[in-house]
Amino acid sequence: TLLQLRQMHLLKKNAYINGEWVSAQSNAVFPVLNPADDAVIAEIPDMDAADAKIAVDTAANTFQTWKDTTAKERANILRRWYDLCVKNSDNLAEIITAEAGKPLSESKSEIVYGSSFLEWFADTARHINGEVVPSPWPNKMIMVTRQPLGVVSVITPWNFPFAMITRKVGALMAAGCTCVIKPSEDTPLTALAAVQLAEEAGVPKGVINIVTSSRKNAPAVGKVMCEDPSVGCISFTGSTHVGVLLYGMAAKGVKRVCLELGGNAPFIVFPSADISHAVDQAMLAKFRNNGQACIGANRFLVHKDVFDTFVQAFKEKISKNCILGPGTKQGVTCGPLINLEQTKKVTELVEQALSKGAKALVGGKPAAQLGTKFYESTLLTEVKPEMRIYKEEIFGPIAVCYKFETEQEALQVANDTRSGLASYVFTKDLGQAFRMSRQLNFGMVAINDGILSAAEPPFGGIKESGIGREGSKHGAEEYTDLKYTLFSGL
Ligand code: ADP
Repeated sequence: TLLQLRQMHLLKKNAYINGEWVSAQSNAVFPVLNPADDAVIAEIPDMDAADAKIAVDTAANTFQTWKDTTAKERANILRRWYDLCVKNSDNLAEIITAEAGKPLSESKSEIVYGSSFLEWFADTARHINGEVVPSPWPNKMIMVTRQPLGVVSVITPWNFPFAMITRKVGALMAAGCTCVIKPSEDTPLTALAAVQLAEEAGVPKGVINIVTSSRKNAPAVGKVMCEDPSVGCISFTGSTHVGVLLYGMAAKGVKRVCLELGGNAPFIVFPSADISHAVDQAMLAKFRNNGQACIGANRFLVHKDVFDTFVQAFKEKISKNCILGPGTKQGVTCGPLINLEQTKKVTELVEQALSKGAKALVGGKPAAQLGTKFYESTLLTEVKPEMRIYKEEIFGPIAVCYKFETEQEALQVANDTRSGLASYVFTKDLGQAFRMSRQLNFGMVAINDGILSAAEPPFGGIKESGIGREGSKHGAEEYTDLKYTLFSGL
């Protein structure tokens, strides 16, 4: 219940700067709502530029000592943080479901997934190696080391409120950086809970700071986080629109950026595919988090020979397996959308497509009887290029299916987007699988699978989907600078 949630020790109602749970200097607050029923879960500090400046200065001061800790010390702290997240996973999951709306089982999966980054970077911390390169000169040595780049400003979205923080903060801490986090205004409580556990794990004060703010104050807070001279890197996950804004601010100070932006993932089904497996994976790739994932399948491209079979099976699975309701209710698989703007956008995209001749085989309208932010799980066919839904990232529970005839055509349509994050291909033809891997212009290609994210592989996109990689050994390197020292006169 709401009362129990409010009394949970992980439910913090203040921001976190220099190891203190603090209010905004102005004492302003904003409400955090449960998207399923609009109940106010908590009121938390609505910070502004002045608070952000204090947080950045704190992170900069702390960097002076944190950068000199050993990799082993940082690894041990990350490992303890991982252990505490696992131990507290039920409570963390309840907080995620309360503020993000996703079903409790998905929130638990997010804790498993998100914690795995802390575990991974605990290991990685001790392998951020340099190089000694043979020099072109006698009696001189070229030494290359990796140095932490300083304060990282972390700005995160609401769709994976825990994992988007651990994936960034685990990496930057492993590298020896400190940070200021501005979590999404929709889901700040998960971030605060994660940091409570970081404190319990022994993360020294000032290494992680959290500035909470409403959407109204986000631009002012963001400006300090991007433009303050002591910030070395801006690490952002969110919309391409906001990413471009932050990139512009970072450019003024020639700062490093790590941007994970929107996707527009194709999900391509060839005739040789195991169709029933493809449909199962389509359910995961489309309806996880109710379609609100940047790697979620946005366009189903299905070969004409298997189109009817795939669409029919997909329709049956959606009708049977998509159960809408509040994330806390047993058996629910699809929660509410995060907020009214998202619901409005999804509603408009589908209405426009239907008015121009698209067909809804299931769903096609808001599920208003459940609340203001619920939308029916929907399957559309007969979608044409002149419809907005053809080009845009939907970020909702709408599966759109197109028919294609040749491999060349599938590739051309799949690549015809400014985004380049994830892509999915279903085929049993090995040659075709390799051709797809090579020719799809995306940072990630999954062959015969609908879920590809983990701590081990590099996550990230090309084109307007972003810059940099998260997870993997490359994820920690993003937060380092290469330093070359020449030793001469030896
Ligand atoms: P989403 O569509 O996932 O909400 P957004 O890009 O809108 O993605 O938001 C992601 C994060 O960016 C959130 O934490 C939000 O508060 C933040 N944000 C939005 N506008 C700005 C801004 N002008 N400056 C800094 N942060 C911002």
